[in-house]
Amino acid sequence: MGGLNALVSAGLCLFPAVVLSAAAAQDPAPVLAHATTPEGRAILLRLQFRKGLGVEGKMLPRAFLSKGVDPGGWVPFESLSPEGKRWALAALFPEDLWRQDEVRHRVRYPEVESVWTMAALFTGHGQNYDRLMAENPDLPEKLRVGDLWRIPRTLLSLDLGGAGRGPDRSQPEDELDDEARVSAYRGLLSFGEDPLGKYAAYRMRKGEALYSSVVIRYTDRVDPKGVNELADAIARRSGIEDVRGIQPGQLIKIPLKFLADPFQSEGSSGLAEEREVRAEVRRTVRVEAGPKLKGVRIVLDAGHGGVDSGARANGIWESDFVYDIAMRVRRLLEQETEAQVSSTIRYPGLGFKSREAIVTPSGSAEILTTPPFAVDGESPSAISVHLRWVLANDLFASFRKAKGEAQKTLFLSFHADSLHPSARGSMIYVPSAALVPSTFALGGAKTGHVSEARRSAWVAFTGREKLQGEARSRQFAETLLRALQKERIAVHANRPIRNVIFRNGGKWVPAVIRYSTGATKALIEVSNLTNEDDAASLREPGFRERYAVAVVNAVRAYYRK
Ligand SMILES: [Zn+2]
Repeated sequence: MGGLNALVSAGLCLFPAVVLSAAAAQDPAPVLAHATTPEGRAILLRLQFRKGLGVEGKMLPRAFLSKGVDPGGWVPFESLSPEGKRWALAALFPEDLWRQDEVRHRVRYPEVESVWTMAALFTGHGQNYDRLMAENPDLPEKLRVGDLWRIPRTLLSLDLGGAGRGPDRSQPEDELDDEARVSAYRGLLSFGEDPLGKYAAYRMRKGEALYSSVVIRYTDRVDPKGVNELADAIARRSGIEDVRGIQPGQLIKIPLKFLADPFQSEGSSGLAEEREVRAEVRRTVRVEAGPKLKGVRIVLDAGHGGVDSGARANGIWESDFVYDIAMRVRRLLEQETEAQVSSTIRYPGLGFKSREAIVTPSGSAEILTTPPFAVDGESPSAISVHLRWVLANDLFASFRKAKGEAQKTLFLSFHADSLHPSARGSMIYVPSAALVPSTFALGGAKTGHVSEARRSAWVAFTGREKLQGEARSRQFAETLLRALQKERIAVHANRPIRNVIFRNGGKWVPAVIRYSTGATKALIEVSNLTNEDDAASLREPGFRERYAVAVVNAVRAYYRK
């Protein structure tokens, strides 16, 4: 019975097929260029694939460095002063033309340059790459030596004398809570019909792109392939020849079958379910536990591990990085609260410690069942996925048996995904009440020797429990988003809370939260590894610590009336 379900759920963060080719081993060698400062000192510049531009620091004039930057080693481009940035770009790209209204950038090093790098260097944000492509509709995304890219002054960073527009897909809805935001998005649609069938109509606004502001927002697709394919299909349906030439005001027709539940037409079952859950969220009263989280039972799960390193892109991989965040959360909860905390997984060489530097994927991990279950080559990772909820549910059962309050149980699973690169930041999955089964029992002889499986390898949920599960989890997700934003951690610009995963035509809730008997449960995708800014953040131990602080702050804020 577990077979197919298990495989599907194990595939959750496995979008790596598209990006795996960017493995470190295949990265092209960095380009080194000699330059001379205005004072005549020789300095080396280094342009690295995906890592951007660095400048040799030791001979660099003070005026070329931002305040407080240590001039040792390679100074990243971002740490240069405006003057330093202009000098470095002119030194590396002497053929560029700096005009009053635009920069004309001539591609010199196509093996290490990319549209993303160009956007990062000239506009200050790699995420402006789609704008840059829209400004240069005749040039291919794959750079060629000599191609002349136009970077209008309006896109140049402030430091380079431009308008400094951030990747401001920001729209008025961004400030709203999830329910108000989703209904505002819905309000932007109108429904129509033409000879090709029924559709929802959307008018593009300034700063919006088809794949983010239409596909990622209005459908359940977030994986690169699914998003690109649907963007193409919707463009064709809307009579658009080239998605890069879309202007504000353009009418987009989204066939109804692609819409996520909250955007389905009146009278549809999807919309009815959405409204039922929203009503339940409003009715559900928060549980109070005080700032010390007394009487709260928390189980932390870090996705993947052992033979399964999870999603991979931009030189990092999922397992070790999310394990590190989970360990930091564990430490903070243990130090600062009275909550009872357990983990589902441990890396034997490391224990429950966090790390500053993460260099290579850890080869071994064990699910902390009795006896521990090694996530190794012998054991299909699908079983270890199921043992996580089995273990957590078993811990929750003992807690309730010992007179713990059922409503004070919390299950958090940490992951990172590799989505369409335009998506940046955290996304939180909660279990859709409609997709949680009424009963489920884990079959298979392989778990027979695990004590927890003998006691807790089955679940049963009433309709009421499913609805409450989604409602409480949504309340938590909302609280977590606010805590992340307070720590200035990026969250998805479009619908950062989702209740289904949609991929390859299938729709499901990840097994670890689908079968969790925790009153509140969430699967947190901390970062989109395909997004270069996200990958760079996750590499920083300081970011992982801030992330953990935000999670713990969210847990505290959640258990307050
Ligand atoms: Zn994952």
